[in-house]
Amino acid sequence: MIDLPVASPWFVQVRVSDTLTLVTEPHVHPLLRCNVWHVQGRDRDLVVDTALGLRPLRQFVERELDGGLLAVATHTHGDHVGGMHEFAERAVHRAEAHALDRAGLAVLDPGVFGEEVLGPYRDAGYDIPALLVDAVPAGGLDAALLEIAPAPATRVLDDGDVIDLGDRAFEVLHLPGHSPGSIGLWEAASGILFSGDAVYDGPLLDELEGSDVVAYVASMRRLRDLPVTVVHGGHEPSFGRERLVAICTEYLDRHDA
Ligand SMILES: [Zn+2]
Ligand SMILES: [Zn+2]
Repeated sequence: MIDLPVASPWFVQVRVSDTLTLVTEPHVHPLLRCNVWHVQGRDRDLVVDTALGLRPLRQFVERELDGGLLAVATHTHGDHVGGMHEFAERAVHRAEAHALDRAGLAVLDPGVFGEEVLGPYRDAGYDIPALLVDAVPAGGLDAALLEIAPAPATRVLDDGDVIDLGDRAFEVLHLPGHSPGSIGLWEAASGILFSGDAVYDGPLLDELEGSDVVAYVASMRRLRDLPVTVVHGGHEPSFGRERLVAICTEYLDRHDA
């Protein structure tokens, strides 16, 4: 049993707009603190990513709607898919669909990660503590490695697919680089982009197993040209177009030799 103070409630909800809520885990280190985005549509809702699975999530994002709720994984790293099994409808990009078929792992012990994960965070000035949580949820945590239940996709996504909520629609953008099946969800009408780990305002990871810098460069070019109003990333606070262009340009300057 991990000996840390209990934090309850575990999740914190932040109302971003009438139709958008952010659910996050303040006691998880930024490296693993996934943003869970709940988008309310007229006919159905969308949840973008599902965190580590340390506590049940669905109650925080489910409304009584006939059309139900689609959970989309922006990619299949453990900090984004821990709660996927709680949802009946689950979507992920084709390139990572297989990863949801089998059990995953939520890793709270930073020692399990290599320098390809910890290095960029240390370089950016983040402290790396002995455990990547500073509290435990009610009920405690048995171990620093926790199994994530299999949650096979019920819908496989490709670039250009549309997720229709009735009164609004999100286009799937395949943005490989961080991982092979990383996607963004783009609403052209509003300029809102949910970007997963393809881009956020923090240390970007491109040396993981499955990462591909050449693909990442192409994804960054695509992102830089997108007329966004706001980017809601997989980690860290949201930002606007100017910051998006700066992050993409900085990446391209480093890698696009
Ligand atoms: Zn990731
Ligand atoms: Zn992540």
